[in-house]
Amino acid sequence: MAAYDVVIVGGGPGGLNAALYLGRGRKKVLLCDAGPPRNAAAEHMHGFGSRDGIPPPEFRRISREQLKAYPNVEVRDTRVGAVEKHEGGFRVALGDGTSVEARRLLLAMGVVDVMLDIPGYKELWGPSIFQCPYCHGWEVQDQPFAMLAKNPQYLDGAPIIQNWSRDLIVFTHGTFEVPPEQRERLQALGIPLEERKIRALHGKDGRLAEVELEDGTRIARSVMFSAPPQKQHELVTRLGLELDDLGYVKVGPTGETSVPGVVAVGDMTTPMQAAIAAASAGTIAAAMMNHALILEDADRRYTEVTGKPAPSRQKAH
Ligand SMILES: Cc1cc2nc3c(=O)[nH]c(=O)nc-3n(C[C@H](O)[C@H](O)[C@H](O)COP(=O)(O)OP(=O)(O)OC[C@H]3O[C@@H](n4cnc5c(N)ncnc54)[C@H](O)[C@@H]3O)c2cc1C
Repeated sequence: MAAYDVVIVGGGPGGLNAALYLGRGRKKVLLCDAGPPRNAAAEHMHGFGSRDGIPPPEFRRISREQLKAYPNVEVRDTRVGAVEKHEGGFRVALGDGTSVEARRLLLAMGVVDVMLDIPGYKELWGPSIFQCPYCHGWEVQDQPFAMLAKNPQYLDGAPIIQNWSRDLIVFTHGTFEVPPEQRERLQALGIPLEERKIRALHGKDGRLAEVELEDGTRIARSVMFSAPPQKQHELVTRLGLELDDLGYVKVGPTGETSVPGVVAVGDMTTPMQAAIAAASAGTIAAAMMNHALILEDADRRYTEVTGKPAPSRQKAH
C-alpha cells in the first residue's frame, strides 16, 4: 500500500497551497480532489492578489501545473471516502478503489452551499446571485440590487451592501418578523423592505432580470446578494470532528482539529470565506504540520541513537 506523509483532501486554494508548502518542505504528499469546487458557478475569481479576475478553473490549472515541479507531490482526481485511524497514522480509502497510508491528514474540503428552494435560484447562483460583495460587487456596482435576508441579524448587512449600490431592496421572503428598530433603520437609510414571499427569480440571457412575488408582482432587479445555508462534507461527520456553534470545524490557530493528526483549513472552518484566506490558512497549517513531522522524525532518531526517550518540547500538530 502506498504510504504518504500527508494526504490532503480537497484541491481548492486551501489544499493547493498546502500541497505547495508541504512539497517544498520535502514531504511525500497526495492531494485528492473530487470536485466540483465550491466556486464552480463563478465566472471569475476576484480579490486574490496577482490573480484578480481569473476564471476559477484556470486558477486551479496553474496551481496544479506549478505543483508538477515537485515530484514528491501527487495529485489525483478522486474522492476520499472512509478514513481509519491507527497508531502512527491513517488508512485512507479512495474513490478509485485504492487505499493509502498517511501520517497526517490535511482537510481543505470547503463546504456545500445548499441552494434555496426558489425557482431560478440555483440557475442564477454564480452569474447573478452572490454571497460576497468583495468578490463580485465591483463589477455590478450601482445596478438594481436585491438582498435576500434570512434572519433579522442579516438585515444589519443591508447598509454594507448599499455601499456597492444605492438602488437596493431588501427581501425577507416572508421568513421572519422584522424588528421595529430594524425597520426604522432601513427606512431612514432609504432601503425599501419587501416582506412578501418570493415565487420565482426570472433571468434573461442567464442573468437575473426580475424577482416575482407570491401575488405575481414582478420587481426588476439584476443582482442578488444572498448567503444560502452551508453544510459540511460527509467526511467531517465520519471523522467525528468537533464543530463550532455555526457548524464550522473547530480549529486552533494552525488548523488543529479535535482529532489528533487531522488539520482543517479554509471554508470548512470559517464563515470568513475567500480564496486567498483559504490559501493562507493552508500555507500556515502545512508549514506547522511539516515542522511537526520533521521534529517527530528527529525524536525517533534521538531515541535510536541514545536509547532514551526524546526530551519533551512544545507540541506542534
Ligand atoms: C459562487 C462563488 C463565487 C465565489 N467567488 C469568489 C471570489 O471571487 N473571490 C474569492 O476570494 N472567493 C470567492 N468565493 C469563495 C471561494 O471560492 C472559497 O473561499 C474558496 O474556494 C475556499 O477554498 P477551500 O480550499 O477552502 O475550498 P474549495 O475551493 O471549496 O475546495 C474544496 C475541494 O475539496 C473537494 N472535496 C470535498 N470533499 C472531498 C472528498 N471527500 N474527497 C476529495 N475531495 C473533496 C471539493 O470537491 C472541492 O473541489 C466564491 C464562492 C462561491 C460559492
